Amino acid sequence: MKNNKKFLRQCIDCRKIKRKEDLIRITKDNKTKEIKINKNNKIYGRSVYICKNIECLENAIKKKKFEKILSSNLPESIKEELYAVLKK
Ligand SMILES: [Zn+2]
Repeated sequence: MKNNKKFLRQCIDCRKIKRKEDLIRITKDNKTKEIKINKNNKIYGRSVYICKNIECLENAIKKKKFEKILSSNLPESIKEELYAVLKK
């Protein structure tokens, strides 16, 4: 089952290993340097993964994980978008 490994990613907050489809991917676009939610995996650049839950998002923001890994702040618009997605 070696092939399955490439679909596994780690949440930047709780560090749990999950399948890619169970995580949200946030990418800093190599070209524009903008931070975006990488919905279709069409953006290329440095990426982080986070669980689809509010706790991981809030903790990651508090601990400044996005800034550390992407070396940019998470834009307010992206935060809002994430909260909207996760608030279900
Ligand atoms: Zn998590």
